[in-house]
Order: sequence, then structure tokens, then C-alpha cells
Amino acid sequence: MYYSRLAPYNRIFREGMPILTYHKLGMPPQGVCRKDLYMQLPLFKRQMGELWKNGFCTTQLQGRENFIQPNNNRLVITFDDGSRTVFQHAMVPLRKLGFTAIQYLVVEHIGGRNEWDTSLGEVEDPLMDESQIRTWLSAGHEIGAHTLTHPHLTHLNRQQAREEITSSKKKLEDMFGIAVQHFCYPYGSWKEWVRDLVEEAGYKTAVTTSPGVCTDVTDPFILPRISARQPPRNIRGLLDRLFLYLLN
Ligand SMILES: [Zn+2]
Repeated sequence: MYYSRLAPYNRIFREGMPILTYHKLGMPPQGVCRKDLYMQLPLFKRQMGELWKNGFCTTQLQGRENFIQPNNNRLVITFDDGSRTVFQHAMVPLRKLGFTAIQYLVVEHIGGRNEWDTSLGEVEDPLMDESQIRTWLSAGHEIGAHTLTHPHLTHLNRQQAREEITSSKKKLEDMFGIAVQHFCYPYGSWKEWVRDLVEEAGYKTAVTTSPGVCTDVTDPFILPRISARQPPRNIRGLLDRLFLYLLN
């Protein structure tokens, strides 16, 4: 299930706090394997405008207190990986509506490329550099850690996983002089022991790729999200849309 327009989600979005997931913005370049990680700008702007018109506003992740307070019109916008396309295209539309977002950064690739993907044959995507991240922060947006190198944390041993989780936090804090309190599991891959390492490292929240909205019983270190996507032009996409329509 993916989010492309509000109508089917209006009720679900008010049952708890939704966290939306985006990756890159704009047309997917020639030859890209994961086209679904790109959201074209007209749709992104339409989604933001639709949320605004329906009375939604963005909030910052804070931990459990986010979900305990009654909040039927607040949501969180997240971008994974630190793509430069987000810096280029998201800031103006977000500012116009008074929305803020959080970017989860892969610390060793800041200012570089998506090497965890290109090593598997994916097309290069330039990532935000330090000065762009400073501009992002000074516009009121936030950053979180998405590890040092974007590994499957559950494939690592405990010591390697701890290093990815704790050093990414520390390095971002040293680089930007702010507290980094939010974490994102690469590939949404986590297990109980990985979740505990995130909590031990001093984060307040961690987001996954499991679908759903956050409620007062949600574990702040296993936050569900709703993936925003361009609707696929195939039968599966049609069935998904039909299902969402019926749900409403
Ligand atoms: Zn990622």
C-alpha cells in the first residue's frame, strides 16, 4: 500500500500520527532500477497542497509524547538517504505551506553518492553536502541518522551494528553542532537487538518501513510509516487503488 492522494487515507491519517516516507524528487533518470524511489514534482506539490487544504500541519518527532497527545491533524514528513534532489525541489513547496521535514543522512556519503545502491548497479544519485545540510537546517528542517554506510543492520554483528548506530549520531552532532535524536533503519531492516542498540545510543525515535500510523501504544523505536509513491501504471497499481477506494 502506498500513498499517492489523500482521499483513501483521510480517516486512517486521523486515527494516529502518520509519518510519510519519501526518497528522491523529480523524474527518475534514464536507466534507474528503483523508479519507485522517485516522486515527480507535480505529484509531490499536489500531495503537500492537499494535506494543507485538509487542515494537516507538520510536526517534529519528539518520542512518545507525539502520539499520546490528541493529534488528529499533525503528521511528519521524512526523506531517506539525503538526496540532493530533495534539497533542490522540496524546500520551496514546503516553505510556502509552512511545512517542515526531516532528512535521514548516510553519514559517510554526505556530499557523495548513493554508493550502497550504485555498487549493485543502480544509477548515481548525488547526496546533499555539508553546506546544503546547513541551509536545510537553517530553514527549520531537521536531520536524523541513517547509519554510516547504509548496511542491513541485521546482517552485521553486534559490534558493527553498534558502530553504525552510535558513530553516525556522534559524527552528525560534531559536524552540525546539534543534538541528533532520530534514527532510520536502512531497508527498514531491524530486529529486537538492533532496536535496543538504537535506544541505548540515546536516540528518541527510530522509523521503519512497516505501514501504519503512530498511536499511544506504538514503540517509539519501531515507528511505522506510510510510503508515498507515484501510482504504478499496471494492474497491481489499479488493484491497490481500488482496495484503498473500498476501504474508505
Ligand atoms: Zn535508505
